[in-house]
Amino acid sequence: MRLSELKTGQSAVITKILGHGAFRKRVMEMGFVRGHRVAVLLHAPLRDPIKYSIMGYEVSLRRSESEMIEVELCDTDGKAEGISISNGHGTSAELHENENPVNSRGPESRHTINIALIGNPNCGKTSLFNNITGAHEHVGNYGGVTVDAKSGSMKFAGYTLNVIDLPGTYSLASYSPEELYVRQYLRNETPDVIINVVDASNLERNLYLTTELIDMNRSMVIALNMYDDMIRQGSKLDYNLLGDMIGVPIVPTVSKSGQGIKHLLQTIIDVFEERQTTVKHVHVLLNPDFEKAVSAIKDRIKRDGDIAHRISPRYMAIKLLEGDLEMEGEVLKSSNGKEIIADRDRHVEKLQQHSDQDVSETIAAEKYGFIAGALAETLELPKERKVSTTTRIDRLVTNRFIGFPLFLLIMFLTFWLTFAIGQYPMDWMQNGVDLLSDWVVRTFPDGMLKDLVADGVIGGVGGVIVFLPNILILYLCISIMEDTGYMARAAFIMDRVMHRIGLHGKSFIPLVMGFGCNVPAIMATRTIESHSSRLITILINPFMSCSARVPIYVLLVGTFFSAHAALTTMAIYLIGVFVAVVSAKLLRRFWFKRDVTPFVMELPPYRLPGVKTTLRHMWDKGEQYLKKMTGLILIASIIVWALNYFPLDNSSAQTENIAQTAEVGAEPSDADSGSTDSYLARAGKAITPIMEPAGFTWRSTVSALAGVPAKEIVVSTLSVLYTGDEEASDASLSARLTQPDEITGQPEFTRASALAFMVFILLFCPCTATLVVIAKETGSWRYSLFSALYNTAVAWILAVATFQIAKLFL
Ligand code: GDP
Ligand code: MG
Repeated sequence: MRLSELKTGQSAVITKILGHGAFRKRVMEMGFVRGHRVAVLLHAPLRDPIKYSIMGYEVSLRRSESEMIEVELCDTDGKAEGISISNGHGTSAELHENENPVNSRGPESRHTINIALIGNPNCGKTSLFNNITGAHEHVGNYGGVTVDAKSGSMKFAGYTLNVIDLPGTYSLASYSPEELYVRQYLRNETPDVIINVVDASNLERNLYLTTELIDMNRSMVIALNMYDDMIRQGSKLDYNLLGDMIGVPIVPTVSKSGQGIKHLLQTIIDVFEERQTTVKHVHVLLNPDFEKAVSAIKDRIKRDGDIAHRISPRYMAIKLLEGDLEMEGEVLKSSNGKEIIADRDRHVEKLQQHSDQDVSETIAAEKYGFIAGALAETLELPKERKVSTTTRIDRLVTNRFIGFPLFLLIMFLTFWLTFAIGQYPMDWMQNGVDLLSDWVVRTFPDGMLKDLVADGVIGGVGGVIVFLPNILILYLCISIMEDTGYMARAAFIMDRVMHRIGLHGKSFIPLVMGFGCNVPAIMATRTIESHSSRLITILINPFMSCSARVPIYVLLVGTFFSAHAALTTMAIYLIGVFVAVVSAKLLRRFWFKRDVTPFVMELPPYRLPGVKTTLRHMWDKGEQYLKKMTGLILIASIIVWALNYFPLDNSSAQTENIAQTAEVGAEPSDADSGSTDSYLARAGKAITPIMEPAGFTWRSTVSALAGVPAKEIVVSTLSVLYTGDEEASDASLSARLTQPDEITGQPEFTRASALAFMVFILLFCPCTATLVVIAKETGSWRYSLFSALYNTAVAWILAVATFQIAKLFL
């Protein structure tokens, strides 16, 4: 807990001083040292400041200061477990006895180190995190995979290490949401030690962020990651010398295989315990004029004590000179913030007089100069640079003529594997489900329970579970594209196309991820700097057909278009893409005004994906799918079954409805499995007139609407509703769909209505999880509501058009 949380009369043992340099030094000078007992004497009338007794004297701290001191409560007689401390009236001699923090056994939190992983996108932070904590977070070979902070912990050498994996950032500017996130994290959570992960094969750019962290003056260790790549390229780095120059210990690591991680953790502990000799406070010096301005502003900030606890004044001063708006806001909160800003303005004006360069540009240039200087002395590049494999592949993949067809070919291959090859394992699964269903039909006594299990549970869940192989294959393909680095190239070649629709190459990856699941895809839009581009990308994402819609296509395409399975499905996906493109254009035109952000997207070197991570990644998705089956889908199937089963007596209602439904062709022959005037049928028939122009019957209408909680429910509902005749009940769902209706002699689904149905399912209202994530990411339910209404309207229009046109040709 924090010292500020203590109540009057309580006492506690100090476990940690947060914050940085000057502040830390000052409170430690006042006697706030680890292992010492502090008691709260009284709170001032406005609860601020607070008077404490420590080391036998009384001192008052502001609340904001005491928030930066971590303590552990101890019982009233002053004995925290296992620690020998002075009783609050100790002398300075006792102080020294107790000051050895390494050997004295202290409360748990003294041996807890909070660690934050910070680095550029795609430098291996998440791999490192997984390796340290044993987690299985998603790694991918492009920027922006980690959009949230993930935390995990492990024990090492008697310490508990709490590790946080932060999103990747190139700098600590406040442009993109991730940068802001990381900055705020550093300020509010004040981790004890930062691991700055740098990509050894791309030092110059990676070290830019390092210079900013150095300005922040935080305890830090550099993980020189991808060291294997560096060796392979033939570069040599004297990392010990470089570490000495910048005052930060550097440990080479290969986070994919785990090499160097033990050494890294040991170094972190040494830094935490302040016994690491490399650690020095070094300034990344700017030119003398700038340094003068920085010092002046820094001193000005220091005089205003209450803003500089959490952030180093030098860092603040530099950010102010760079014109950082967020930092300005922070400074303006303090009482004489206005004066500080005015002071800054004067300095900026003076600096600008001598140069035509922007102040922030000059600062960046100076920093790159510092890095270049440091590397010139420590880095030895290979004499002759051979053309790397990456360059060679890229020449082909991003080629003006081959790039696009190749991309389409890869997409086609993905669909072919998912739908055509996936058919085989799907058939095996189907056989299994059929066997189970047969067994239930044979062994259960006739009655409601049998109907529930056979039609409700096996019909519903079994109807969806058979698509597991298709979904696994689709995820495998996406995962391989992500891990090899191809996805980033796809975004690169698509940039121009994306610009045409007022978006950005960066919007492309979330869109492709949408083929997997729209929820993480929408979260991945956080890498897009431009606010309006991000909103548009979010809103068009649901048109990217997610894997939950796969079962519907497999079922209907398999039944009606089996000769051209991959082509037809690809066409469906392309309709989604087309609607997305048109919607993006419309949104740009009528809702979000244009804004231009430059396209900065890194093309990471190609890497062979690790078999283990790829399979693991695929399996995680499979597991999620199975979990959904046994939860949401099971419940929904039972509800649909029950609504369709009751009321049991339907003889009188049946005749009434014949006239009305015959033209729709919705009269099933078998009253036993699903009553013709069930609650569900009544509700369905009430809405069906709206859907009739698209060739829908009450069953398909109900199935489509059932997809709002989750799109998988569409197929499970179809499967529950089309239980078929007694003698045909073991036929596959696809056979049941094409069975001619006894009254009309027409099957309910035709090629035209199947096509319209797929178009409708592709486009209509996003599932609940997607609506929630849209609201969360945009910060407003307005966008979710828009998405639900707009998508449904578009779906209806296009489904009707599809049906009417297809009827003429098919
Ligand atoms: P993050 O964006 O910083 O979280 O990076 P990831 O952990 O997602 O990794 C990016 C890519 O680099 C993945 O393809 C990893 O497999 C790969 N990678 C991570 N660490 C290493 C390493 O030490 N050596 C090599 N050769 N590749 C690595
Ligand atoms: Mg990551």
